[in-house]
Amino acid sequence: MRSKGITDESVLDAMNKVPRHLFLDSSFLEHAYQNKAFPIGADQTISHPYTVAFQSQLLQLKPGDKVLEIGTGSGYQCAVLLEMKAQIYTIERQNELYKKTNLLFRKLNYRPRKYVFGDGYKGLPEEAPFDSIIVTCGAPEIPQTLLSQLKIGGRLVIPVGSDPQIMTLIVRESATDFSKETFGEFRFVPFLGGKN
Ligand code: SAH
Repeated sequence: MRSKGITDESVLDAMNKVPRHLFLDSSFLEHAYQNKAFPIGADQTISHPYTVAFQSQLLQLKPGDKVLEIGTGSGYQCAVLLEMKAQIYTIERQNELYKKTNLLFRKLNYRPRKYVFGDGYKGLPEEAPFDSIIVTCGAPEIPQTLLSQLKIGGRLVIPVGSDPQIMTLIVRESATDFSKETFGEFRFVPFLGGKN
């Protein structure tokens, strides 16, 4: 991770603490610490460790920050952010995964502030605004709803486009102004509307 440009010690420490093998199907156990994506059920994948590190670093978290995650999936990214002492609100649209990961969070004692079965396109207006929003699925475009749920100074980290996606950082500079920076190609499963 260091040799690939991950320099934020709080990200590296958090990733050292989370037992990634427990977030994979047991058939992939022996590969858990390689830099690969794996199936986690319901046609979804756990992100590459490097991708998790890269997105986590872009958030520039401070302890106690209020963070919204779209796409809980296996719960691995969420666990890393919890180890970084953020308050996490996380949304998953697939019920099968939602339930499986809920059991794992309990077993490992990872406690998001809220874990919601729902459609991430809506964000979480009742808990907004957030210091950061992290989207862990590939978005065809940047949802306005999510921009409106950022604090001033808040950061949205979102992979945009379709196969591959361009990692994009949006910073809310004022009530009406947003700046944008891009960081190269990544591959994610799609950000889909609705829930099932
Ligand atoms: N952060 C996850 C990545 C899982 S893959 C991890 O660490 O394992 C992306 C996830 O986004 C999938 O579980 C998929 O079901 C979910 N997703 C896709 N569209 C969504 C939406 N509209 N709302 C919430 N989750 C969504």
